[in-house]
Amino acid sequence: MRKLIAGNWKMNGSIAANDALVRAVIAGMAGADCSVAVCVPAPYLAQVQMLRHGSALELGAQDVSQHEQGAYTGEVSASMLKEFGARFAIVGHSERRQYHCESDAVVADKAKIALAHGITPIVCVGETLAEREAGRTEEVVKRQLAAVIHANGHCISEIAVAYEPVWAIGTGRTATPEQAQQVHSVLRAQLKAATGHSERIHILYGGSMNAANAASLLAQPDIDGGLIGGASLKAADFLQIIAAACVARA
Ligand code: PEP
Repeated sequence: MRKLIAGNWKMNGSIAANDALVRAVIAGMAGADCSVAVCVPAPYLAQVQMLRHGSALELGAQDVSQHEQGAYTGEVSASMLKEFGARFAIVGHSERRQYHCESDAVVADKAKIALAHGITPIVCVGETLAEREAGRTEEVVKRQLAAVIHANGHCISEIAVAYEPVWAIGTGRTATPEQAQQVHSVLRAQLKAATGHSERIHILYGGSMNAANAASLLAQPDIDGGLIGGASLKAADFLQIIAAACVARA
């Protein structure tokens, strides 16, 4: 299976900076034997859609409304994302859960509406430091994923999952390959039980993945790629992670 490397730009970028970054990534990833996407702020979808034209770089959004359309000021619908070429939408990122009070149920609805519009939701799950220290990691990630499985039934085979320990996001503190693999194997088993077949769903690792640690994380049997925040903003770093993913292709 081809690994998937997805950049999460978060609330970063400018027309000039995006132009330079996307051109450099496209030039550097030519011929790469893995899938690559950038999840950009909504106002830049049109720009990046034009820049990526004719390349293998895929486009993603960082969120999607759980509503189809209507009086939801500030929200962006799945059909709008689709019109601008989004192939992926991150849902349930811990920053959305924390700062926008997104519950497991809301995240599940977002995954559902993305799927209905042919967009692959990248469903983020992950425990806080307090939860890890209390020995609750598995319980938390399984609960978060169960909500999405429950709401999406057989469509679940079409999702991607990102295990992102909250304590590792933007902190420079990365889960060890063994810690990440342990949680990925739990998520893999949960997905297998839900789908009833062994078709592989991408399970990405996210949390301070960078050029130096990517290879050892991506070498783990159940780590199918990465969701990359800070390091996706620097073309050289992002390209090194892409190169590591190509080498580690399972
Ligand atoms: C993220 O926000 O999805 C993320 C993984 O961030 P970082 O790589 O900066 O820790």
